[in-house]
Amino acid sequence: MSIVIIFNNKDPKPWAEALEKFLPEDKVFVYPNVPDPQSVLLAICWKPVPGVLSEFPNLRLVQSAGAAVDHLIRTQSFRETMLLARIVDENLSNDMWEYLLAGSMSMIRTFSTYESNQEEKRWEQLSYSTIGQTTIAVLGLGKIGAATARKLSVLGFSVRGWSATKKEIEGVNCYYGNEQLDLTLTGADILINILPLTPETENILNTKNLLKLNKGAGLINVARGEHLVEDDLLDLLASGHLSAARLDVFREEPLPKDHPFWEQKKIGITPHIASLTNINSAINQVVQNYRNLKDGKEVRNLVSIQKGY
Ligand code: NDP
Repeated sequence: MSIVIIFNNKDPKPWAEALEKFLPEDKVFVYPNVPDPQSVLLAICWKPVPGVLSEFPNLRLVQSAGAAVDHLIRTQSFRETMLLARIVDENLSNDMWEYLLAGSMSMIRTFSTYESNQEEKRWEQLSYSTIGQTTIAVLGLGKIGAATARKLSVLGFSVRGWSATKKEIEGVNCYYGNEQLDLTLTGADILINILPLTPETENILNTKNLLKLNKGAGLINVARGEHLVEDDLLDLLASGHLSAARLDVFREEPLPKDHPFWEQKKIGITPHIASLTNINSAINQVVQNYRNLKDGKEVRNLVSIQKGY
């Protein structure tokens, strides 16, 4: 039996080396060098080309190399016998929390305006908000969103969260379902998006929803570029309804050099680094899942292909 690594824009070498170390009895192939596709039981994937998984007739487990699975669900067809798993890791939640805290603090202390002012050598004291005066809405209360929402509330932010089903998180006003989206957004000063990308959540960051936020609010999108209607954001920043945005994910990555986001000083751009998969902890999960699969035991961190997350 064998494993195939199918990575696009991601170095497969550390993964191949780690898998060979932990699973010396099995073959590890790096796509497209797969001499024996029939033997492949596990595929570890990051943004694979559309339809590639159909080349492996005995594939049982598709493992995303990250927390998200939209890059698989949108591009592959899954036979009934195939399982889909993702990485769930406290390191991912912790790193994301630190990024989101930095982003939120920089917004309430208006750092992006000071950075622009510095370019023009302009000395101008601006008003700021405190943690206690700031309401943050977190869209998505999953493994990462729930941990983030809770920690923000412990720090003293007023926090609301939104999910598909009802949740209870200490210190967080939890809302759920489409009917309660407005309640989540209305009057928030910062909106954090950490939803999975599905047909239901695509384009959720649009004018209609963003107008519910307080005037001068900030947006932080760390989920997927397809959640954001880009022209709506540019218009809302130009009109002053939004004061700042911090974006880590984009419809096209790398963000093309001629994209208007690069020119908008109110947008802070990071290249999809809010929280990177930690190979050491990820590899343990993948190896364990593979062993469990071969032994007929339960595979962990499975995703509902039907729900899309
Ligand atoms: P989870 O699957 O654990 O959580 C998803 C959350 O979104 C759940 O609370 C779910 O609600 C909610 N949700 C899904 N669909 C809807 C909907 N239609 N309406 C309301 N709520 C909905 O995901 P994670 O927390 O692990 O990760 C979330 C996303 O973060 C990933 O999919 C990925 O895109 C992004 N990410 C980005 C990284 C980066 O570096 N930029 C790094 C890691 C992740 P319920 O619980 O009720 O089902």
